[in-house]
Amino acid sequence: MPNPRHAALFEPLQIGPKTLRNRFYQVPHCTGFGVQKPGGQAGHRAMKAEGGWAAVNTEYCAVSPDSDETPFISARLWDDGDLRALARMCDEVHEHSALAGVELHHSGAHCPRREWRLPAIAPSQLASDYLLVTPKAMERDDIRRVQAEWAAAARRSREAGFDIVYVYGAHSYLPMQFLSPFYNRRTDEYGGSLENRARFWLELLELTREAVEGECAVATRISVAALSPYGVDLDEGLEFVRLADDLVDLWDVAIGSATEWSKDSGASRFFRQGWQLEWTQHVRKATAKPIVGVSRMTDPDRMAEIVASGAWDVIGAARPSIADPFLPLKIEEGRLDEIRECIGCNICIPKSDPGGNIGCTQNATAGEEFRRGWHPERFEPAENRDRDVLVVGAGPAGMECAIVLGKRGLRRVHLVDAGDDIGGIMRWIPQLPGRGEWGRVLNWRRIQLDKLRNVEVLAGLRLDAEGVREYGAELVVVATGAFWSPVGLNRETHEPIAGADATLAHVLTPEQIMVEGKVPPGERVVVYDSDGYFMGPDLAEKLAVEGFRVDFVTSLEDISPFSEETLEQVFLKERLHEVGVRMHRSAVVGRVELEKVTGVGEFGEAFALEADAIVLVTQRVSDDALYQELRADEARLESEGIEAVYRIGDCVAPQLIADAIFDGHRLAREIDSENPSVPLPFVRERPVTALA
Ligand code: ADP
Ligand code: SF4
Repeated sequence: MPNPRHAALFEPLQIGPKTLRNRFYQVPHCTGFGVQKPGGQAGHRAMKAEGGWAAVNTEYCAVSPDSDETPFISARLWDDGDLRALARMCDEVHEHSALAGVELHHSGAHCPRREWRLPAIAPSQLASDYLLVTPKAMERDDIRRVQAEWAAAARRSREAGFDIVYVYGAHSYLPMQFLSPFYNRRTDEYGGSLENRARFWLELLELTREAVEGECAVATRISVAALSPYGVDLDEGLEFVRLADDLVDLWDVAIGSATEWSKDSGASRFFRQGWQLEWTQHVRKATAKPIVGVSRMTDPDRMAEIVASGAWDVIGAARPSIADPFLPLKIEEGRLDEIRECIGCNICIPKSDPGGNIGCTQNATAGEEFRRGWHPERFEPAENRDRDVLVVGAGPAGMECAIVLGKRGLRRVHLVDAGDDIGGIMRWIPQLPGRGEWGRVLNWRRIQLDKLRNVEVLAGLRLDAEGVREYGAELVVVATGAFWSPVGLNRETHEPIAGADATLAHVLTPEQIMVEGKVPPGERVVVYDSDGYFMGPDLAEKLAVEGFRVDFVTSLEDISPFSEETLEQVFLKERLHEVGVRMHRSAVVGRVELEKVTGVGEFGEAFALEADAIVLVTQRVSDDALYQELRADEARLESEGIEAVYRIGDCVAPQLIADAIFDGHRLAREIDSENPSVPLPFVRERPVTALA
């Protein structure tokens, strides 16, 4: 029984001919599986169905080849082969009594079409603001054809077993391109007045309703406020809701556009839980039909408040459902401290449609349900569970590994760390500007470690090789992490930077600033970044806010290019600009002097910046000395009864937090395999065209 405070979240709700068993709804999100990997697709969605979500949806699902998303991976319903691929998802989702939904889609002007090769189509011939594409203006024949293909895809959806069929109009894709005057300059009955611009979308809804013959709920997704020119403003968004209301069983409401999807899938660095309500709460004024909204919701009290307020009837989630597929069940059973809350890092985005296999920082099993057979909540007892394991280093990798080893029933697991607390890099990264939610990586793991009676955590203990050998464990896992190069080792030269030496007062590393409290000796600071992710910009912001005059110098062509993939880049740049940081791109630092930093620009021109200090964010180096020393003397390991020494996480190679956690999880899942250092093969899905 859920806590009475959360009871409203477990009320069923009728959507057209179907019933949602509760108010938890996995909105469409990419996985990298599409129809190419039907097993991965089915496994990922079915896990959430098992975890209590009332409905789970596919990612965007192209209705026709002129919405070919290649090189990105979308679902497709172009033909019956696609139907069979997606039917597997429906079957597996239904086994867990959830509804399956499909997000029928056409990207119009925003279509990359690398496989299709023929022109993109759009209401008018206006270059895409999202990709470098200039489309063909649709003739009436094109309109009829796309609509017929949409209807055919809707029929296939029904036949595949889907319960909810979408007309996806959010994020400035084709239906929104017709609705928005930014894209639609037509002078026929599909352009001009709002009624005319709405016509294409309304007709799609009618055709979809006809095609599913009352057997599926019809949903539509709309960005009710584009917050930019790339769509409609809230007034027109609500006007469309009124116009289409009779044709829709479920309103799935969001904000933003394809170009500014960063405002919809907002990263925690810049967006707090619930930020979209500012706009989407107004949809209630335009409809009495069920509304589902999103905003990285993980707090059940807040969810219950929203449902009680009437703003939304259903709590939608993409990322919270990836981070914890069992979120609804845990709320229902009152196991709130077990909810693995999404940290809003957006690593799942580069891992999904451009990456080919979804992954998640918090949930190492995301995307591994089918191909590795991993279940987020179930762990097989290990065959070698009569062994004791010593895990050295309690950063993300070590903590995750110890938890999974504990759950697999290893006799005794000791997780040891030299620091006065566990967490490794997660003790200080959440103190960077806007990174507070990342602290959930440590918080959740600390709670789980506390619960495992066979896992003992020992902080404040630095082990050397002798200490490890004498510890008494048969299995040793080294998870000692990595550190930022104190001499500026970097991708451009593969050498240290002349004069860069962090033992000097005017040369600083991220750890020195964040952990040791080292302060630049003067006002003028250069932050030199050739890493390309969050550390450089975050430190630049922190120092600027503290009153330093900061020059952010990057050897890369753009500021923090990896943050573009996590949808943070545009806001990071704005923020640095706001706090007065001067930014220099394509600039390679060659020498650090007492009051000067010099180097060369993009075309070989020399530059010099007056600076009292430099912060080196160049590359990290694995802290693998302990591992190497242990492995160098196998005979002594054997004589001490140590069967194996493994290493995981940044100690192997500096990597994303998500990947370090994955590595620790992987080793523990396979600790009883023939050679746990080498990952077991996973099931590979390959399209096989039947040979005649
Ligand atoms: P990862 O991201 O791979 O998990 P981190 O850098 O976050 O790595 O964590 C590494 C942890 O290992 C740090 O907390 C550090 O204090 C600890 N550590 C490093 N060397 C030793 C050692 N010799 N004995 C105990 N703990 C160690
Ligand atoms: Fe959330 Fe990050 Fe996991 Fe994505 S990768 S679901 S943002 S924790």
